[in-house]
Amino acid sequence: MKSGMLAAETAFDALVKGDFGGEAMAAYDERVRGSWITSELYKVRNFHQGFERGLFVGMADAGLQLVTGGLGFGNRPRWKAGFTHMKKTKEAHVAPVSLEQTQRRYDNERTFTKVNDVFHSGTKHDEDQPSHLLVSDTNICATRCKEEFGNPCQHFCPANVYEMVPDKAPGSVKLKLNPSNCVHCKTCDIADPYEIITWVPPEGGGGPNYLDL
Ligand code: SF4
Repeated sequence: MKSGMLAAETAFDALVKGDFGGEAMAAYDERVRGSWITSELYKVRNFHQGFERGLFVGMADAGLQLVTGGLGFGNRPRWKAGFTHMKKTKEAHVAPVSLEQTQRRYDNERTFTKVNDVFHSGTKHDEDQPSHLLVSDTNICATRCKEEFGNPCQHFCPANVYEMVPDKAPGSVKLKLNPSNCVHCKTCDIADPYEIITWVPPEGGGGPNYLDL
């Protein structure tokens, strides 16, 4: 929220001056670096990377970071994008599973299907708005991604937004999107192995509304 406020202040100054050049916008970086969010976040800058080498090394690293002000086992300025950690199904020696297969595991008494969870999240979007999930090449979903990764978007999306459904040709599939289910976690934008999904804010301010449902 604070970084958004600082961005708004920078944009306001730029509007007043009519200057949207690189130098004028660099004020945002200065504002963030001079703000309390930098000193607060600096201490946890290596937290995620600490777990790159497993749970136990990560826990030891996280503990050390607490007492060293965020340094832990060493400063790791570069972090690999999340999707680069994903293994192809052949490398992981697993057979692809369909969304249906995974959803059958839930009994809807103690464990719940994704669509049930979407209902409990209170998510609402206008059904007739343009999709706020932009998939730049759906052929990749039906061909390379199906073959190499088994369409992981169906599984990492917690809201059943991505479904691979049968296409006209026997054995072929196509992507079906259910954007109005989206709970705005942005996992797909980060974890998609081909980087073809872009999440943009939906029209009308819709989204999840976690209340006492
Ligand atoms: Fe699914 Fe989250 Fe992507 Fe929405 S943002 S489509 S809920 S993975």
